[in-house]
Amino acid sequence: MRKIPLFQRKETFKEVSEGFNEEEAVKEAQRCLQCSPPPCQEACPLKIDIKEFIKFIAAREFKKAEEKIREQNTLPSICGRVCPQENLCQKKCTLAKKGKPISIGYLERFVSDREENSKSLKTISPRKRKNKVAVVGSGPAGLTCASELLKKGFRVVILEALQKEGGVLRYGIPEFRLPKKVLDKEVEYIKRLGGEIVTNFVVGKTKSIEDLKKEGFNVFFLGIGAGFPKFLGIKGENAKDVYSANEFLTRINLMKGYLFPKYHTPLRIGKRIGIIGGGNVAFDCARCAIRLKAEEVFIIYRREKEEMPARKEEIKNACEEGVKFYFLSTPKEIISDEEGNVKGIICLKNQPGERDSSGRRKPIPIKNSEFLIPLETVIVAIGTEANPLLLNTMPDLKLNEKGYIVVNKDFQTSIPYIFAGGDIVSGTATVVEAIKQGKAAAKSIERLYG
Ligand code: FAD
Ligand code: SF4
Repeated sequence: MRKIPLFQRKETFKEVSEGFNEEEAVKEAQRCLQCSPPPCQEACPLKIDIKEFIKFIAAREFKKAEEKIREQNTLPSICGRVCPQENLCQKKCTLAKKGKPISIGYLERFVSDREENSKSLKTISPRKRKNKVAVVGSGPAGLTCASELLKKGFRVVILEALQKEGGVLRYGIPEFRLPKKVLDKEVEYIKRLGGEIVTNFVVGKTKSIEDLKKEGFNVFFLGIGAGFPKFLGIKGENAKDVYSANEFLTRINLMKGYLFPKYHTPLRIGKRIGIIGGGNVAFDCARCAIRLKAEEVFIIYRREKEEMPARKEEIKNACEEGVKFYFLSTPKEIISDEEGNVKGIICLKNQPGERDSSGRRKPIPIKNSEFLIPLETVIVAIGTEANPLLLNTMPDLKLNEKGYIVVNKDFQTSIPYIFAGGDIVSGTATVVEAIKQGKAAAKSIERLYG
């Protein structure tokens, strides 16, 4: 896949992958064997008719290709970019056995990026239904649930705590992986379907669910994500230059902190930056730090390289951009001076132990193996959990032992008129899983409250 030149990647937030042009897309689509039954479709969480949309691309019928994808996926230009296709549809492609699976994600991106396609998308106005739905949260789960309900004639208002829509797609995943104009286009489509979006509205604080019921909402979908940062719980973590990944990425992506004082939110970083973690979030932080002109950026990970959960393509990009690694390392203490400025992190060396339930080898810290990594900024990217703000206002809402909302097979919560989906149900997962759940919840709302 063509990428922008390396020197540019280190200086701008411009999207790295350039995607297919028309000729490349058609050529790629013509490689498809049109298997029957198609194993790729079975592996896609949304069960997109992949074989059929690829056939349309091969025949240069791009509009039909997009319509085919949109039958199942409300956010195709986003999935085409961020889905872990290598573990889903592309993994099962028959050609993967020869090491050359069809680039399904890039084809999905190609058709849904075409300007002329999206302009002509249908904005049907079916009969209006009496029930009014409040969708809380505008991440992929909320956007999908809203768009599916709008297509069925429900009146829908999306209530979003932040100043802009999109959830993690806006504040978490950086521009160089997911340009915001791609997200804006999908949000625009939801508005064209008749959806109303209210931002800066924290349900549970601005207004409660009870207040909203009095205002005429009778069904709710909670797609509030799980954006509450986890910390390491080690000595020195309260120092000035220790960020949670969420804070670091929000300051960059949402608040444009790197353009301070033109934008109001400052972002202070040092020359040597260490990021704790090995997932997509850690890599997004590391690659942002490179673009902010840090001199050295390190990923500090407790297991081995092959065991990092981040997408392979993004690990490769990060290596090309100069990110360095400390594997088999567990942070023990953050060191700072009297003024609270970070000076480094002490880690223990690990050795790989028995395989755990994830199939990966458990990291076992080696006694007296401490070593110091000199750093000026530390970013903690070890995961997130449910934010209790709204959940605490609803004592009748059943949560599991980890604090996530419990739902039945219809994505209905213990309060019958409240549905939920996405990360707040499954813990931190994927965009495509959030879409799948938002869609399933919309179907149940139609069946039970239509
Ligand atoms: P979110 O996207 O978290 O959206 C929830 C929304 O609800 C937010 O906008 C929040 O402000 C709002 N909200 C919360 N509480 C309230 C309230 N009380 N009132 C009103 N609004 C509220 N997945 C992939 O598949 N591929 C990737 O490459 C990938 N990279 C990632 C990179 C980063 C940095 C992060 C953080 C995650 C990444 N993920 C990736 C995971 C993926 O983004 C999430 O699984 C997905 O966004 C979950 O969607 P959601 O709709 O459940 O929640
Ligand atoms: Fe593959 Fe994701 Fe598209 Fe499904 S939604 S076909 S898994 S890229």
